[in-house]
Amino acid sequence: MQEFNPFSTIKDLSGLLASKKISSVELTTEYLNRIKKYDKKLNSFITVSAETALAQAKAADEQLAKNQKTSDSDFSLLGIPVAQKDIFCTKDIKTSCGSKMLDNFYSPYDATVISKFNQAGAVMIGKTNMDEFAMGSSNETSFYGPVSNPWDLDAVPGGSSGGSSACVAAGLVPAATATDTGGSIRQPAAFCGLTGIKPTYGLVSRFGMIAFASSLDQGGVIARTAQDSALILETMAGFDPNDSTSLNQAVPKYSQLLNHDNNITKNISQMRIGVPKEFFDKNLDSKIANVTHEALKNLEKQGATLVDISLPNCHLAIPVYYVVAPAECSSNLSRYDGVRFGFRCDNPRDLEDLYKRSRAQGFGKEVRRRIMIGTYVLSAGFYDAYYIKAQKLRKVISDDCTKAFNEQQIDLIAGPTTPNTAFKKGEKSNDPISMYLNDLYTSSANLAGLPSMSIPSGFVDGLPVGLQLTGNYLSESTLLYVGHQYQLNSDWHTKTPKNFAEV
Ligand code: GLN
Repeated sequence: MQEFNPFSTIKDLSGLLASKKISSVELTTEYLNRIKKYDKKLNSFITVSAETALAQAKAADEQLAKNQKTSDSDFSLLGIPVAQKDIFCTKDIKTSCGSKMLDNFYSPYDATVISKFNQAGAVMIGKTNMDEFAMGSSNETSFYGPVSNPWDLDAVPGGSSGGSSACVAAGLVPAATATDTGGSIRQPAAFCGLTGIKPTYGLVSRFGMIAFASSLDQGGVIARTAQDSALILETMAGFDPNDSTSLNQAVPKYSQLLNHDNNITKNISQMRIGVPKEFFDKNLDSKIANVTHEALKNLEKQGATLVDISLPNCHLAIPVYYVVAPAECSSNLSRYDGVRFGFRCDNPRDLEDLYKRSRAQGFGKEVRRRIMIGTYVLSAGFYDAYYIKAQKLRKVISDDCTKAFNEQQIDLIAGPTTPNTAFKKGEKSNDPISMYLNDLYTSSANLAGLPSMSIPSGFVDGLPVGLQLTGNYLSESTLLYVGHQYQLNSDWHTKTPKNFAEV
């Protein structure tokens, strides 16, 4: 197929579909062929749903044939292949959440997010690999094995959405869904040179999204550009009566608010961007600091004012997160008891043996560690000292952000997404604390519920670096607008890893 470039944006593919230069079946077949050719190296998919994908593509082609649309006005997901993180329940296709516990699980219903993609006519090409129950920063805790980073096959792609970031970076699919509890959209997006957005808590429905830590979990996107992310987010987001924390808010057409004078967001030349001094301390790799300063200069050149700010308690985000998240996980994962669904041990002697062995054999080491920590911090003797204390500090961290937005009159907080670039597989797997430190700059946004995005901002020693932009509540249109403007004035998002170039 002459027109086909696997690293195209959705915007471009949408144009090809609308002008009938390619059909959705042809497009889907191209990507399925690439998955066959390259995914042995990456292991980014747990399930490839070729048959369903081709049926959906055929239906999309019928729809496209009926529609008389021009390439410019038709920027939609109709007929576009996407991958879904294997945390979203899909009827008739296995949903494993990266765990042996759910290796045999077929959900009786689709997650709201999946239904929304179906309604938009998108093509689900498969379910992506992930850290077990989304617990991890390297995709090494998956029951289905680690995923490789397309930029360096010995390095990790980030986690927990490592499958989603690796398959998009390698051009096996134009975009994928992901989820972010403490950084799992932004960190893998940064490690793989992609754009990733975690929305405001409550913007995307959690119904049918397997729970890890319910007050922190949020679904979002990993794509090549801010423009593609806008299109996907406006498809995924929206009020859902099936999710009690869903925000009852109209969702703006983000993809139409990416240019200046859009009447919703301030012009970038009037924006004040806060740069927290704490993000540039000894924990940050000095080469990443340089790349980040360059990226900030780009925004400054476009007229934004950079403002030095302080988030004095942000160093507490990791310890607070690692009390709150395990506490909620220990409660959420109590449902996997070997009785109703999921893994069950062989020949249980009695009920207690059934519980114990099903959970001991069904969960991996990191998940068991989290359940034990969570149970401990929630136990009668330690509840006040750990859980209640963490909740109080969560409020303090969140107040620091609100204060910066209000008192310093800033529109965004900007800094590096991660303290380091993608590390080698195995490098941190025996040192949970150093693994946890990957979320140093990302987890505050989850604790506060704020929207946050990572965009490609350069390279250090051949590996991608991400710039993190965090906004006030429901400021997704601002984040995506600034991301898009940055991408109009840089080309980092157009770089692709060389070993995956051949079509
Ligand atoms: N790395 C963090 C953890 O291990 C965050 C994971 C996530 O955002 N799902 O919990």
